[in-house]
Amino acid sequence: MTLDYVKLRNIKKILKEVNSWKDAIAHLTDQQLQEKTVEFRERLAEGETLDDLLPEAFAVAREADKRVLGMFPYDVQVMGGIVLHQGNVAEMNTGEGKTLTATMPVYLNALEGKGVMVITTNTYLATRDAEEMGQVYRFLGLTVGVPLKQSEDEELDPEVKREIYQSDVIYTTNTSLGFDYLTENLTASVDGQFLADFNYAIVDEIDSVLLDSAQTPLIISGSPRVQSNLYGIIDTLIQTFKEGEDFKFDEEKKRVWLTRKGAHAAEAFLAIPNLYDPQYRDLVRHISLALQANKNFIKDKDYVIHPNVEGQPEIVLLDQATGRLMEMTRLQGGLHQAIEAKEGLKLTQETRAMASITYQNLFKMFRKLGGMTGTGKVAEAEFLDTYAMSVIKIPTNRRKIRKDLPDEIYQTLPEKIVASLDYVKKVHEKGNPILVFAGSVEMSILYSNLLLREGIPHNLLNANNAPREAQIIKESGRKGAVTVATSMAGRGTDIKLGPGVAELGGLVVVGTERMMNQRIDLQIRGRSGRQGDPGLTKFFVSLEDDLMKNWGPDWIQDTYQDYDVEERIGATKALTKRKYKNLVERAQNASESSGQASRRMTLEFAESMNIQRAIVYEERDRLIKQEGRLDTIVEKALRSVFTSVANEKDYKDPVAFYRYILDNVSYQVDAQKARQTFRSKNMKANFLWELAKSELEAKYEVLGTDEVIAQFQRMAILKAIDENWVEQVDYLQQLRMALSGQYTSQKNPLVEFFQEAYQSFERMKEAAKRQMVRNLLLSRVEINTKGEIVLHFP
Ligand code: ADP
Repeated sequence: MTLDYVKLRNIKKILKEVNSWKDAIAHLTDQQLQEKTVEFRERLAEGETLDDLLPEAFAVAREADKRVLGMFPYDVQVMGGIVLHQGNVAEMNTGEGKTLTATMPVYLNALEGKGVMVITTNTYLATRDAEEMGQVYRFLGLTVGVPLKQSEDEELDPEVKREIYQSDVIYTTNTSLGFDYLTENLTASVDGQFLADFNYAIVDEIDSVLLDSAQTPLIISGSPRVQSNLYGIIDTLIQTFKEGEDFKFDEEKKRVWLTRKGAHAAEAFLAIPNLYDPQYRDLVRHISLALQANKNFIKDKDYVIHPNVEGQPEIVLLDQATGRLMEMTRLQGGLHQAIEAKEGLKLTQETRAMASITYQNLFKMFRKLGGMTGTGKVAEAEFLDTYAMSVIKIPTNRRKIRKDLPDEIYQTLPEKIVASLDYVKKVHEKGNPILVFAGSVEMSILYSNLLLREGIPHNLLNANNAPREAQIIKESGRKGAVTVATSMAGRGTDIKLGPGVAELGGLVVVGTERMMNQRIDLQIRGRSGRQGDPGLTKFFVSLEDDLMKNWGPDWIQDTYQDYDVEERIGATKALTKRKYKNLVERAQNASESSGQASRRMTLEFAESMNIQRAIVYEERDRLIKQEGRLDTIVEKALRSVFTSVANEKDYKDPVAFYRYILDNVSYQVDAQKARQTFRSKNMKANFLWELAKSELEAKYEVLGTDEVIAQFQRMAILKAIDENWVEQVDYLQQLRMALSGQYTSQKNPLVEFFQEAYQSFERMKEAAKRQMVRNLLLSRVEINTKGEIVLHFP
């Protein structure tokens, strides 16, 4: 008896209880049904738990689904709902109705009044689901909110957002929630705060959000960095380089580095004696950036060039797992500019990272998390390990009858393309709708052109024409339809079969290469055969595919000896020997475990930042929420700094000490007294404190009321924290970049990172305190003509 079996048995037990309420609830009038919400809330207040209420509350939500939407959740959907409530991942196939499934655990958990969020990957889905499912929650007396901008130029101010986030049920996207979280923590007053506590979230396509997007942290960029003028020159230099001679490139590890010969070439080009002399560090950095931009970032695969709002071409990154545009994401550390230089585009401004968080850490803040996906099982170990979530496979409502045919493997790319096209033609003649999946924008265009040449009309869906996505998907199940798509069509889209298609055997999915992990392949296959529909899926592979080249065994190379491509094209002989059979699986496993390892690495690197961010945000929050004057905090900060200063060697010299006072504490100091010989360090510190007290008192006098004084104190302190924290975020980002590329050094980069991250945080805390002192003591307070108080910080 497997563990999964036991889990499923327990879930079925609860399902039975839910079903036992079915008839009784069905007999209630609408009003009686709605009154249940009130009753449940009272029972919770009296000590019943959510688990106690589950069977009856699920039955109520289910009945409301039926009355409002005309859909009564199937037993398997109830099971999925139970898994979500229990804080685990429900694996449910495409078309099984995950949207409706969520209504039951959402309703149950929202009864507590602590907020429930449903997270999807895009605005369109979040808005649509909120509109449709929202009817059910409103019927049951709950409020629903969508804290999303519906257009580029719409701005939601904090007040509006606060109101929305107070709703019982919130539908939003992972990106928007992340940015809201970061933005809120850059605000200086309670007025700028709007988020509710992170209580319970259901994440749709959870593997996409937590695993595939793990490598791209959300970053809010701030003040510009001094722009370097080296990008163009260095890119020109790189163009003269020969791979293997001037630089080496390890495609598998995505590493690229300069050889000795390359370094000499650079020295000659730049007319400098020794590139590795510390004064040329910036040149070395730019060479490394340019090499990365040229080798690791390929147009139409890793990014596309799109016109921005002003019509200027700009780089937009592509999400590797989904093929979607990542509009808000820019590469840090100058890499973005290096790619712009390579493409001959106008360079954008390099900015500092002001705040950043990874999705893993964002979602770990929820008290409870549930997830839904069609492909969780293959990543169960990682979910368990990282999030303590089990993955439970929910049976399908109807038996799956889709056929997944074995892969066809070819030696070369051209052979594979010819064979897959032949297959598409053959199926197309029969009339089945076909969905052709390509591994990149580039390949999707190639397939599209080849189909054109064959005279086969079709739709092309990739990041370049995403606006038509919904329309294209809608048409793709019709008889005779051919759709070429990148993996962006692989998720969250439900393809309904047109009339007469089921009789022909349903939708045929043709994969033109196996993707970098099994989950993406499964998502792709999942477009076909929904809700017991017939369907067929088949992948074509060549030994020249990226997956095989990067992750396959070395002996693949040997098979090229005496291989005459010309002769083979058109003969389209698939490779059938036994040794080819598991090749693809093994390459994919290798790719996936490397993906896992680097996600682990990202998490580990992010951990320092995470701890520090938590400390800083908590401190900020305390300051913002604190009512009344902050005298105690102010005194503590001042005394701590003064004690350190009194003990520091740097200020032993009376002149240096006097200088310190002028720069930090007060201009109104008697030079004689400041330069006296203090009898003890304590007295020296006290001298500073007395000076500070009279400075503060003078300022408080001008400020007048306690309320205004508190505001001044808060601003002075927050400003010091924020300015130093922003520096720290940027520093950690840079440090990470610098260390993660350092495989050669003897030390473990992670350990080194932790040490330096910790030490730099300690330095930051001290620097922040010292700035607080300056802000509190040396700021100028003015009352302007309008009678407003204006603060000038030093
Ligand atoms: P998934 O996200 O799991 O692929 P969706 O939530 O998009 O699936 O639902 C697929 C389709 O099935 C939708 O059109 C939905 O309205 C329909 N559906 C879901 N559950 C039911 C149900 N219990 N009864 C009738 N139709 C349902």
